[in-house]
Amino acid sequence: MLNDREPGTPITGGRGCAPAVSHRAYIAIGTNLGDRLANYRKAVALIRELPSSRMTRESSLYESEPHGKARNFFLNGVVELITELEPKDLLKHLQKIEDSMGRKREPAGKKPTNVSRVIDLDILLFDVETIDTKTLKVPHPELQNRRFVLLPLSELAPSLVHPVLSSTVSKLLVTTSDKKKCSLYKPLRGGNAA
Ligand code: AMP
Repeated sequence: MLNDREPGTPITGGRGCAPAVSHRAYIAIGTNLGDRLANYRKAVALIRELPSSRMTRESSLYESEPHGKARNFFLNGVVELITELEPKDLLKHLQKIEDSMGRKREPAGKKPTNVSRVIDLDILLFDVETIDTKTLKVPHPELQNRRFVLLPLSELAPSLVHPVLSSTVSKLLVTTSDKKKCSLYKPLRGGNAA
């Protein structure tokens, strides 16, 4: 069970157990198909249930103009997770959530970008780690190019410094070249205003 210590500090393990270390991760959530609000809420609920993890904060919800081939506007937001999972395991769990929600996955090597999707979960940042493997890139390579990510992330962590660009999230938001529309989304009480 996760306790309240600061991310990056080891948990004292039992005799013979390696101490687990907790990490702070930021996860972007996006959806533009079907009942977007229900999809968003379901994804948040499922992320809350991840093992060895605790969701500590949730951004407001934003509605954003699609990039690329997608037509429908997206609902977007970011959550903060304190987790003992390692990055590749966190990614696997997030992909399981996407699959369980009916996300269609393209075969490796045929990955379309900026298309419509029931749910999209991306690891934006994982402590100050930089990861560059075939299946996982952290910080997310498009973070600085997406207002729909920077706006909710800046609500949760405006002073956080991007470990590669050495710029705060607030500054990245001011300097991003992304001109697509992105505004606060206010759902009608109990329903989907889409
Ligand atoms: P997307 O279509 O944006 O959901 O991309 C999914 C693919 O991106 C998967 O094959 C992942 O292995 C890969 N990927 C690379 N870096 C990340 C990341 N930081 N978060 C989520 N998926 C990632």
